[in-house]
Amino acid sequence: MTKIVNEKVTLGKSGLKIVPVGLGTNAVGGHNLFPNLDEEAGKASVKSALESGINFLDTAFIYGPGRSEELVGEVVKKFGHRDEIVIATKGAHKITDGKTVFDNSPAFLRESVENSLKRLGTDYIDLYYIHFPDEHTPKDEAVGELAKLKQEGKIRSIGVSNFSMDQLREANKDGHVDVVQGEYNLFKRGAESEFLPYAKENGISFVPYFPLASGLLTGKYHVDDQLDESKLKNPMFQGDTFKRNVEKVNALREIANAHGVDISNIVLAWYLTQDTIDAVIPGAKNDRQVAANLKTLDVKLTPEQIQQIDFLFRD
Ligand code: NAP
Repeated sequence: MTKIVNEKVTLGKSGLKIVPVGLGTNAVGGHNLFPNLDEEAGKASVKSALESGINFLDTAFIYGPGRSEELVGEVVKKFGHRDEIVIATKGAHKITDGKTVFDNSPAFLRESVENSLKRLGTDYIDLYYIHFPDEHTPKDEAVGELAKLKQEGKIRSIGVSNFSMDQLREANKDGHVDVVQGEYNLFKRGAESEFLPYAKENGISFVPYFPLASGLLTGKYHVDDQLDESKLKNPMFQGDTFKRNVEKVNALREIANAHGVDISNIVLAWYLTQDTIDAVIPGAKNDRQVAANLKTLDVKLTPEQIQQIDFLFRD
């Protein structure tokens, strides 16, 4: 089922116009992250997202590595309308002789942007994130290089991801940071104490990753489910923690039924009620999940429901 979306919002102070439900593409060619990924299913997810009106795609060099950017770029090129699509990608992983380290040096970031441009097959990247902090580069210098790349038209806005609060403050000394991406979902709400208030104060948009807690927040699990090995690696899917988590998620079913949508839509809609969260980027393994997640745009939670969800996931 496809749906054409016209409703766009501005991503913080970046000026980028996006549909608030985007697509995370680490499962598109991210062979190093997920077992047995099917590239055709990955490309179909991106294609159906674009056809349905989703215009915000989140990828990174390390997904693949490199393969996610290539596949996303291929689908975007075929689809056309490049000027309406917002591509976010990330860099910082330096792989030498099979060893990976983080590098935020200006020279490495510049080289990474150039390489991402080639893999994506595009002239500009709408949003470029420093994916992870390294230990040695002053963060304002790292972001300063991205500001130069922005002036040169190679990137359109600047993001940082997985930074500590101190690193974020240093990165944003000159006010160049447009977007922060960090782990945040109903089970992991640490960002609420400092990141979200800082983002609000500084006009920065906060993009939560793992918004569905890798599928746990979709409502598709039952307490007695037998999970496969790849899921069991995640502590949230283990033993009693898993059972407790599933029970909490299933307590959202009544609200989902009242809106005629899935639990995942309620969860994603709840994030979007927060001031600094302009967009969510749930990942998807196939085009059906993409279509299902897009229904989030139909959900208008009542103030009571927003509070109820907040309370249910307080600890
Ligand atoms: P997520 O959005 O929390 O979960 C996505 C997974 O949930 C899907 O792969 C799928 O997995 C399941 N799912 C999604 N929609 C569903 C639906 N409607 N019904 C049933 N199941 C559904 O996790 P994520 O994809 O890892 O994270 C989102 C995006 O954030 C990534 O794609 C990536 O772009 C970004 N990210 C960034 C960082 C960073 O360091 N900056 C780190 C991680 C992720 P199953 O079918 O296997 O259940």
